[in-house]
Amino acid sequence: MTQRTIRQRVPAVEITEGAGVTVHRSIGTPALKNLDPFLMLDHFGSDNPDEYIAGFPEHPHRGFITFTYMLDGHMEHRDSMGNRGDLQAGGAQWMKAASGVIHSEMPKQTAGLMRGFQLWINLPAREKMADPAYQEFSAGAIAEVVLEQARVRVLAGAFEGVRGVIDDPATDVLYLDVALAASGQFGLPLDDGRNAFVYVFEGDARLAGEALPRHTLAVLGKGERFEIEAGADGTSFILVAGRPIGEPVVQYGPFVMNTREEIEQAFADYRDGKLVRKRAAMSGH
Ligand code: FE
Repeated sequence: MTQRTIRQRVPAVEITEGAGVTVHRSIGTPALKNLDPFLMLDHFGSDNPDEYIAGFPEHPHRGFITFTYMLDGHMEHRDSMGNRGDLQAGGAQWMKAASGVIHSEMPKQTAGLMRGFQLWINLPAREKMADPAYQEFSAGAIAEVVLEQARVRVLAGAFEGVRGVIDDPATDVLYLDVALAASGQFGLPLDDGRNAFVYVFEGDARLAGEALPRHTLAVLGKGERFEIEAGADGTSFILVAGRPIGEPVVQYGPFVMNTREEIEQAFADYRDGKLVRKRAAMSGH
């Protein structure tokens, strides 16, 4: 079995998003435009309210899925489907924007640590104009596997026979949050057909003999097995894998389609108030 090595190392770049939120971006930067089916990975993490308080006021999305995983903090989500979400530490939100969603993601705290990830997962052409969908899970709903040296939270896909709450048939996404004890080892079979990456957010790790520092994303090479080792202080990382879609990606800000014409249509629809095609009955707020 070939072990997956590091194909590319991408140090996250600090940028300002939304109304002035500091994030560390790795996928979706000039060094790594995308990693089919993944379009963007932002890691937000700050205990300085000035870096998150402005939040992400109303903005549109079309053509893909946003997947948010909160490590610390409290955010409120509202969208054009009528959902009002309450994202708290350890919880996750899966939003299939597809044909169009307008939403806001605003902090519900004025102090303390705000930490987590937002991953954009592409949709195949046949799904891009489908109806949007929304799922939210609190920390308690997310399965955890405790091993001798590791604590694994299974957000999407399956690990050790435990299924995550999120199932994405289009790209078969695996999303694990792994905390590994000092010098601990962790491994699993990971089929060759899926593109995969690791992002270290605490401590540091070694992968196939190479050092992987904090705030660094490693794109994994081909292989059927994934192995990683924690540094002397332990490590926390996310391991994410997905089946590539293999279609052209034309992205303009919050719209990701297959052709330029479809992007122009998205802009026209947004301007004309037609981006949102499916509005769920509002549930009172
Ligand atoms: Fe958004």
